[in-house]
Amino acid sequence: MTPKGNLVIISGFSGVGKGTVVHSLMSRHTGYALSVSCTTRAPRPGEKDGADYFYITQKEFDSMIERGEFLEYARYVDHSYGTPGKYVKQKLEEGLDVILEIEIQGAMKVRRQYPEAVLIFIMPPDFETLKNRLAGRGSETADVIRARLKRAAAESEGIEQYDYIFINDIADDCADRIHRLLRSLRSRTSSNRAFIEKIRNQIEEFRKENANDSSII
Ligand code: 5GP
Repeated sequence: MTPKGNLVIISGFSGVGKGTVVHSLMSRHTGYALSVSCTTRAPRPGEKDGADYFYITQKEFDSMIERGEFLEYARYVDHSYGTPGKYVKQKLEEGLDVILEIEIQGAMKVRRQYPEAVLIFIMPPDFETLKNRLAGRGSETADVIRARLKRAAAESEGIEQYDYIFINDIADDCADRIHRLLRSLRSRTSSNRAFIEKIRNQIEEFRKENANDSSII
């Protein structure tokens, strides 16, 4: 019997490379489904509707809230971001691990609904690396880098709310370590309730059928 999938949240500082790690996890391993969020922000160059995000208006976003279609949603800077619940529930039932790449407020909301969700925070190997990655190819202004570091400072306050940290030194290695953890977590009792119940019922039935047989201890 396939264990129920893990609901996995991946967060991390802006610039830490969590998108690359998630991409590596999805492309090098099987058994995962990546949740595509809705956002009210405009697509960045190269981003595709339906692949990176579903790009919708604030009005559409508000209607989805009213219809209860989000598993969680949050404001981030000037925009709304939300996880459509239907896809997540369906893929978990199919036995896939569902990955949500979301920020910390959303992560905490999911944890309240799904206490068994696995919360992972991606860390840089050291501060210098984070600063260099934030600076990127030098296209960011000093102000933007400062603003992102300020946001990182606020986010760093919440790291202990997560279950695991993984250091993104080399993205593929980091993805492989996460993969090994998630495979192990499939052995949790909480992921195998249906199987446990099935065996328990079979034992109970056998016990009842043989209640009067004194040769069975
Ligand atoms: P960006 O605009 O850079 O793509 O995303 C900004 C932040 O929003 C990132 O930290 C990203 O992980 C987070 N985010 C993306 N989708 C969702 C979502 O559905 N819910 C929440 N709570 N955060 C999200």
